[in-house]
Amino acid sequence: LFAGEVTFLKGVVAMSGLPPADRLEVCFAGRSNVGKSSLINALTGRKALARTSNTPGRTQEINYFCLGEDRYLVDVPGYGFAEAPVAVVQKWQALLKAYLTGRPTLRRAFVLIDARHGIKAVDHEIMSLLDTAAVTFQVVLTKADKIKTAEQDKTLAQVRKELARHPAAFPELLLTSSAKGDGIETLRATVAGLV
Ligand code: GDP
Repeated sequence: LFAGEVTFLKGVVAMSGLPPADRLEVCFAGRSNVGKSSLINALTGRKALARTSNTPGRTQEINYFCLGEDRYLVDVPGYGFAEAPVAVVQKWQALLKAYLTGRPTLRRAFVLIDARHGIKAVDHEIMSLLDTAAVTFQVVLTKADKIKTAEQDKTLAQVRKELARHPAAFPELLLTSSAKGDGIETLRATVAGLV
């Protein structure tokens, strides 16, 4: 699937701007700075497809990418960024919520969690939304290279325990490093199996 073309389609700022729900899609969500852009770039083998940025929360659009001819990969706005004006934050949240709960062709949401930090309250909020919408989500731990194996195991166990409260959680966790390439091939295969 990723051997073919991955191209940017459009940035969407309102539900009315979504492309027609005429093909399957997966989306990637996570707190600002979790490493979402880096992961999408590693996944697609394109260095700057998703804009990486050290300014958390800068890109607040739902970015649609075409995976080959007939699938979408969707990069949803990073959440949990507190420094933006309240009205702006509320607008992103509303869009995120509307998208995650109202897209019939969304096969799975990948929820990115920083392997150093584990699941935070704001992540649980997103997961609860997905529970309510009955959209299966799978946790992808990012930046695995930043911690030692023993710590990784601790995080994995902790995350597993916390996911027990989310009925929509897919049981298998993915541990990744965009910097080192760990877990990227597995993630590609997982996406390819879904759409
Ligand atoms: P986003 O805001 O979620 O899109 O996060 P970015 O992809 O822009 O990454 C945020 C910061 O984390 C950047 O400084 C990246 O270089 C860094 N980063 C992202 N992924 C990794 C990784 O796998 N390993 C390491 N060490 N750093 C990473």
